[in-house]
Amino acid sequence: MTAFLIRGGRLIDPARNIDTAQDVFLRDGRVAAVEVPGKLDALATQEHAEIIAAKGLVVAPGLVDIHVHLREPGQGYKETIATGTAAAAAGGFTSVCAMPNTIPVNDSVETTRWMQEPERGAVARVFPIAAATRGSMGEAITEYGSLKSAGAVAVSDDGKPILQDVVMHQVLAAAARAGLPVIQHAEDTRQTQGASMNAGALAFRLGLRGMAAEAESTIVERDIQLLAGLHDSRAHLHVAHLSTAKALDAVRRARRNGLHVTCEVAPHHFALTEEAVGDYDTHAKMSPPLRLQADRAALTEGLLDGTVDAIATDHAPHAIHEKEQEFERAPNGILGLETALGLSLLLLQQKHSMPLSRVISLLSAQPAQVLHLTGRGTLAVGSFADLVLFDPAEMWMYRAAESKSKSRNTPFDGWTLPGRVHLTISEGRIVHDARVRAKR
Ligand SMILES: [Zn+2]
Repeated sequence: MTAFLIRGGRLIDPARNIDTAQDVFLRDGRVAAVEVPGKLDALATQEHAEIIAAKGLVVAPGLVDIHVHLREPGQGYKETIATGTAAAAAGGFTSVCAMPNTIPVNDSVETTRWMQEPERGAVARVFPIAAATRGSMGEAITEYGSLKSAGAVAVSDDGKPILQDVVMHQVLAAAARAGLPVIQHAEDTRQTQGASMNAGALAFRLGLRGMAAEAESTIVERDIQLLAGLHDSRAHLHVAHLSTAKALDAVRRARRNGLHVTCEVAPHHFALTEEAVGDYDTHAKMSPPLRLQADRAALTEGLLDGTVDAIATDHAPHAIHEKEQEFERAPNGILGLETALGLSLLLLQQKHSMPLSRVISLLSAQPAQVLHLTGRGTLAVGSFADLVLFDPAEMWMYRAAESKSKSRNTPFDGWTLPGRVHLTISEGRIVHDARVRAKR
């Protein structure tokens, strides 16, 4: 079966400002037609298309996550490209951008290609992000032109910052020439050594070293200065997992000054505060850490007013034995792909009245635009047949034990969230189907 008719749904395609009842016809992995309800029925009969009943469901572009860790090559015990993309599909994502902190670090054409080979068993499209410097050591920059030709969509040393001014300057300049965005993990690690949570009264009480907001904002401010000094309109700085009010203000100012600076926020940073660390819960340990309520409020404000360009999960699987260590020794990061849509609907749409189309935009059209993923994040005719069908009002419970990911490290186990995903289609293939359970 190569053709589908998605019939009777509410089509939301933020890239084209569409939110109305429309049917969608898919053929050979592409969107072939979008029409008023009923108009494509004859075509569907003629082409023996499979009819997908979407009554009561939102039909949206497949979600796009520009920040995931798929752990392959090298750490298949945490996640593989197959299991990570299965989790993506379950969460409604059809495109994921994979960070290079694998083993070996993805700083080569070979690894960039390897990650995209069909043998990896991906069920969502994987776009590699290549290392900005060799081995992500922050010293010698990699070959941006050839990495881009091999499929890299950005460069980053995520997990670590590009710390040296002179290197960051070179990275921004070379990436501008190659037409690649630079994604910075903004953390002044000279200030955060040995730290495992947000700096403040709670860290003090728990006897943990804290990471100050300034460790993030000073790097963002430094990067913006370097970008401004380049005077190259092609240069694009993207701030990964922005977590503080201070750093957000810096992005806002840079944007006002006409610089090409974008940023993403992770659901856990607008869902939780440092209080979630509670009694040394390693499922609340990530970098950047969960912050204060004032930061959380500022990020929500930034999402509402358009300063934040994208919601990105920073999906970071770790094995159970790794998270079951004392807090300071446990690795940073949590799962994110299966809960991003639900948390966004709960906290942005339901709690802060963000229009549904804006929530979807932050999870599809906008991230696709940030990394220039052509034909993704929209349902325009000719784009990839990447879709998610979900019921925004239907509540469901997230159970970590049932996750498609290989790992279980999430603070959201047992949370009831809106927006159950019924169906995910990636390039014209059904990659997640929860409809059977709905019928029972
Ligand atoms: Zn990072």
